[in-house]
Amino acid sequence: MENLKIELTKNPKKKPGPGDKLGFGTIFTDHMFLMEYDKGIGWHDARIVPYGPVSLSLASTCLHYAQETFEGLKAYRADDGRILMFRPEENFKRMNISNARLCMPELDVDFCVECLKKLVDIDKEWVPEAEGASLYIRPMTIGIESRLGVKEADNYLFAILLSPSGAYYESGLKPVKIYVEENYVRAVRGGVGFAKTGGNYASSMLAQHVAHEQGYAQVLWLDGVERKYIGEVGAMNIFFVIDGEVITPELDGSILAGITRKSIIELLREEGYKVTERKLSIQEVAQAYEEGKLQEVFGSGTAAVISPVGELKWGDKVMKIGGGEIGPISFKAYQTLTGIQWGRIAGPEGWSVEAARL
Ligand SMILES: *Cc1c(COP(=O)(O)O)cnc(C)c1O
Repeated sequence: MENLKIELTKNPKKKPGPGDKLGFGTIFTDHMFLMEYDKGIGWHDARIVPYGPVSLSLASTCLHYAQETFEGLKAYRADDGRILMFRPEENFKRMNISNARLCMPELDVDFCVECLKKLVDIDKEWVPEAEGASLYIRPMTIGIESRLGVKEADNYLFAILLSPSGAYYESGLKPVKIYVEENYVRAVRGGVGFAKTGGNYASSMLAQHVAHEQGYAQVLWLDGVERKYIGEVGAMNIFFVIDGEVITPELDGSILAGITRKSIIELLREEGYKVTERKLSIQEVAQAYEEGKLQEVFGSGTAAVISPVGELKWGDKVMKIGGGEIGPISFKAYQTLTGIQWGRIAGPEGWSVEAARL
């Protein structure tokens, strides 16, 4: 690619070995991708450079008025040595939706995918080998104009960081306990809930903290107006299996359109399951539980793929789901998606994108 400059590191770092604990998001590879945007010029200076800090004015708009968006996806090491990414163009398309909402410039999706492939190819030796481990990919756009006036920036930085990360589940898929949040709200329709932006996380941290202190892994957000309809969980969308029907909240503008969510809906429909996107109230879930019809609950997101929910606490009511085991539909979705991601199952056309070969 002629408009991509590459500067390789002269000091490659020691890569983690197969036995090293990777955790999540603390180790970075040798290289990163950067490009800038200036009003009137557009995006320019696309480059792959050694990973390291960049200098930034403390008056940058991203630091004061939260003009920032991000994405998250992974590269997987297939058994045959291919390095595969899962639907990467969907991430850049979604970043464009987030950027538009925050008055930030649009990216060229195909160009970003090509640059990402090149970056992953350069750092392919960093894609971990251990079962379930992968290379986490973090694209981000930030406003970097140095000006305290409240107005969208004229200058932006787009970056892609790569971080080898450990398996989400170290000892099998364990159901998590979730707490239905009744005091705080995450987003409202018309706000930025559908954008992948740091502000949504800043506003959700206190509730998350309180839930953790009470022994719950995550909070389940209800809609911000009636405090009744189910939204999503932390960094995951949520699915319920009620009386054989798979139900997930509709995309109403207040929840994130997860790529895992969309993929699960497509896969389960393909398998013949009835999958419905609609409004679903917490009262309806509680009633289904009372009637013995609440069969499975699971979260979906890039990090965990599928996260079975074993307990849902709503006020004084504790709903126990699945008897500590993952349900059959949750398991089916997990097996199929991870199979496609690791190149063991051929998925629908275009879902697996090869970035490199070892
Ligand atoms: C990223 C994210 C998700 C999951 O999206 P995937 O594309 O499936 O990883 C869900 N909810 C929120 C708030 C998120 O930020």
